[in-house]
Amino acid sequence: MKPWPIVGHEWAVRQLQTAIERDEVPHALLISGPDNVGKMTLARLVAGALLCKGQTDERPCGVCLACRKLSSGNHPDFMPVEPEEEGGALKIDQIRAVERFLALTPNESPRKIALIAAFERATTGAANALLKTLEEPPAYAHLILLAQDADVLLPTIVSRSQQIVLRPLAPAIVEQALRERWNVPAEQAAHLARISGGRMGWAIRAATEATYHQRMADALALLWNVLDQDLPTRFDTAQALTRDAGVNVNETLEYWLTGWRDVLLIQTGNVERAIHQQYEGILTQIAQHIALPATVSTLKAIAACQEALQRNANPQLALENLLLNLPER
Ligand SMILES: [Zn+2]
Repeated sequence: MKPWPIVGHEWAVRQLQTAIERDEVPHALLISGPDNVGKMTLARLVAGALLCKGQTDERPCGVCLACRKLSSGNHPDFMPVEPEEEGGALKIDQIRAVERFLALTPNESPRKIALIAAFERATTGAANALLKTLEEPPAYAHLILLAQDADVLLPTIVSRSQQIVLRPLAPAIVEQALRERWNVPAEQAAHLARISGGRMGWAIRAATEATYHQRMADALALLWNVLDQDLPTRFDTAQALTRDAGVNVNETLEYWLTGWRDVLLIQTGNVERAIHQQYEGILTQIAQHIALPATVSTLKAIAACQEALQRNANPQLALENLLLNLPER
């Protein structure tokens, strides 16, 4: 089959292309991996290949009517679903709409595909509603679920799906792709690849959207600030973070994790592996003022907060809990 336009994840692509060639794509696919690692890109390629009317070894061809309808969002046999609000939950009504969509036979293609993003944010009711569809899917139906971490999903959902786990790419692959496919200058490509954490989608956005890169700088500046704040101010900060529509809390936590990992790297004598080299001064200062065990427990606390949010915990409570437990600089 002709190569798919996605960077890395070769084994996953091979596995899916083989399934498409053999007409053995499972009714339920669960693609998991960190934010911006390539889950949506891969899912849309699978959907495209399943709906495409071009030659089998060229799917998705990108030029047939089915491919054009899919890319313009007008294919009647394809239904994309995601939480209605940024960071919000996936609701039972949305899953019921998927059920109704899949219950009717396809219009233009032999198949019908529902692509459900951020499934880790499905409410319990929504997850249970989907289970019914997963138990007895119509022969023409395909469900593609995306989730950050399959471990937080209902085990009965995971066991009924074929799981594809996407891992972060090697920085060298991200760097090369930025240079060759997105024409990013070499020095910037190397820098973005290092801070991307192997997430191609992040690197592309950081290279092409000025504000995206700025959001990382803002998130890290806020983290340094919180370390100097007293407890009442930290309460206020947690409240402001959850109320500010311009702030993506998940993304902020992701950046905090990278900043804090750098503190740990400096404390353990691995400064050259730190990804935020431009903040070396402040990172070194933090590393000198905080004991190693506190650094480790802070990393765990940030990760636990991320996980709590994935499980639909109350964002303000989760953030208050985290911020109050961050060490002082
Ligand atoms: Zn096509």
